[in-house]
Amino acid sequence: MTDINLTAILYEKDDLRLEDQPIPEPGPGQVQLKMEQVGICGSDVHYWTHGRIGDFIVKAPMVLGHEASAVVSKLGPDVTTLKVGDRVAIEPGVPCRTCHFCKSGRYNLCPDMKFCATPPYHGNLARYYVHAADFCFKLPDHVSFEEGALLEPLSVGVHATNRAGVGLGNTVLVCGAGPIGLVNILTAKAKGASFVCVTDIDETRLNKAKEIGADFVVRVANSDPSKVAEEIETVMGTKPDITIECSGAAKSIQTAIYATRSGGVVVLVGLGQDIVEVPVVNAGVREVDIRGIFRYVNCYPTALAMVASGKVNVKPLITHRFKLEESVKAFEAAKRGEGIKIMIECSRS
Ligand code: NAD
Ligand code: ZN
Repeated sequence: MTDINLTAILYEKDDLRLEDQPIPEPGPGQVQLKMEQVGICGSDVHYWTHGRIGDFIVKAPMVLGHEASAVVSKLGPDVTTLKVGDRVAIEPGVPCRTCHFCKSGRYNLCPDMKFCATPPYHGNLARYYVHAADFCFKLPDHVSFEEGALLEPLSVGVHATNRAGVGLGNTVLVCGAGPIGLVNILTAKAKGASFVCVTDIDETRLNKAKEIGADFVVRVANSDPSKVAEEIETVMGTKPDITIECSGAAKSIQTAIYATRSGGVVVLVGLGQDIVEVPVVNAGVREVDIRGIFRYVNCYPTALAMVASGKVNVKPLITHRFKLEESVKAFEAAKRGEGIKIMIECSRS
């Protein structure tokens, strides 16, 4: 097999192949990118193991990968904001730009979003890929390609903490210490949260949370969510102003509501079962606001500024590194739940 544009293609459930593909040419407003680093996300693994996420079903072969950085290798017509050789982070979702949501600045809600590695759109786990130039963010020299790729999950933290209204002196609870919980710890601290408490059922994940700056951790062992909420209050010495739920587990969503101070905010980041029973009267009479988030909107510039200025350090999230040729091995490690963030290097050896 030649290896001009080696590409990781998911044919169907459990069938991930590495194949050479033609190098794509950039259209108007697009750039061709020589891919550098791509992080594996839980959703990539889920498409591989299940062939679908909810109503998004892999019906035709799809390239995986959406947490990525690259070097601009060719400009399409009309591109003036980038030049060949620029190092960039790629915001993976390109919206329609004309609908009500796009025009009102909430393009993450655009019904015509083309998002990398969400069927039917290809991702960028390949040697070459083309993308809208205005969804590529130029990296300063001192920001690495790995950090550039990690702006994707970090942007989820920026958006969740924006929606939560995290500010100076807030006490914050983060439920679930996977990659998404961890980026929420980092952004909450960077935005001035005084104390961040983190829950998980897994001790090693809680150790990582402590390593990156969590002030308190609670290992969830009790099956009664209101009891877990009491444990959290004891450990924090107060009920948190804000809770950011990042596990998607039904019990954890219940804990999030019980744990939050009256008048506070619960942000639901984790996506689990479609329908979950929640203590809605408890939330209602205590005026606890429950807010959802979907990915991020206008968050890449903030995420990049936080990394470039040293306000947050995303490097400790990376636990494994593979080459593009070893993508199947990398996905197997991710499926086994090893480590936190697995990175794949796409440039040729
Ligand atoms: P992950 O599976 O790596 O992390 C989830 C963590 O929650 C794990 O460490 C797990 O041990 C922990 N957990 C499980 N049950 C728990 C409980 N009862 N109490 C506390 N912790 C518990 O996943 P991730 O990549 O970190 O993503 C987290 C969630 O966020 C997923 O549901 C994902 O689908 C979702 N997500 C949502 C958005 C969005 O736009 N809303 C974006 C990205 C990810
Ligand atoms: Zn739109």
